[in-house]
Amino acid sequence: MKNYDGIALFSGGLDSILAARLLMEQGRTIKCLHFYSPFFGHPGRVEHWQEVYGLDITAVDASAPFVDMLKRGPDYGFGSAMNPCVDCKILMMRLAKAQMPSYGAQFLVSGEVLGQRPMSQRRDTLNVIRRDAEVRDILLRPLCARLLDPTAAETAGLVDRSRLLGMNGRGRKEQLALAEHFHITEIPTPGGGCKLTEKENTRRFWPVLSRLAAPDVNDFRLADVGRQFWHENFWLTIGRHRFDNEAYAGLLREGDLHFKVAGFPGPIALGRSSRSWNPDAVREAASLVASYSPKACKASEEGQRISVRVTRGDQIQLVEVIPSRETVFHEPTWESARDELHALRKPEKQNRD
Ligand code: SF4
Repeated sequence: MKNYDGIALFSGGLDSILAARLLMEQGRTIKCLHFYSPFFGHPGRVEHWQEVYGLDITAVDASAPFVDMLKRGPDYGFGSAMNPCVDCKILMMRLAKAQMPSYGAQFLVSGEVLGQRPMSQRRDTLNVIRRDAEVRDILLRPLCARLLDPTAAETAGLVDRSRLLGMNGRGRKEQLALAEHFHITEIPTPGGGCKLTEKENTRRFWPVLSRLAAPDVNDFRLADVGRQFWHENFWLTIGRHRFDNEAYAGLLREGDLHFKVAGFPGPIALGRSSRSWNPDAVREAASLVASYSPKACKASEEGQRISVRVTRGDQIQLVEVIPSRETVFHEPTWESARDELHALRKPEKQNRD
């Protein structure tokens, strides 16, 4: 393990590929770390990336520290949705720095380009990230290094500064030309696919963070599955198809309610809350779950009694319901999440290095 010159943060995006390859072209040995969580990352693609980009990549699960950061509240706030980009980068750099001794690495590499993103890649923000992650002496940004002060790796002669770049701004022309230089034909689409930047996912994740007493990684994974409904602090997720129903099996934990219409095909649903479910909330949830079983709805219209089996641990209860979507449970909207996030906005934190 201890034979690497540097550790690179590897998102799978083009910039992170180019940053690592640029240093490898100088003869430096680079270990790429691909951090993943319920919100970002694709650990299943690591093997493919290694093959097509000629990189040495290890996937690292950052879920728990990332969720801890969300729970504490990001110091630099959220971006256009629920994305805490500055705090995220600080955290990833801290995590990568902690791994340096095991790889024998002397510097950290990041593919940031000055001015490429409005929030996290402004010059002052790049300085803040470097300062707060405590990587001032070890962080190298090869794609825009010529526009920044020389780092220790450059002044010590470990990296040839004259072969680093001075990329600036949002255009991708220079990156694409460099990709061609490295004979990279599979160009990742820009954006990276972080779920926290998307409205649809913010709508799912925000109630978990704002309403549960102590949300954890499993909660955010559950929020990514099925239809989401909330009533006060009672959370109901209803499977949309077989894959959702199967996913619940791996997410179910002590205290959860498991709903299934008795005697008819229909979805599986999980109920979760920081407090005990009262009988009214259970009945409302059961009625909503039954409304997603067309056969149960038809049978109910024909006068048949419909029951939903509600299981909690080894306790099973049959709840008689009329299937209905007129309910106290509601699907959270992007607009309400956005308004709550806006209300949290702090004045910009001091961004000087
Ligand atoms: S887009 Fe997502 S993964 Fe990227 S820096 Fe922001 S929070 Fe982190």
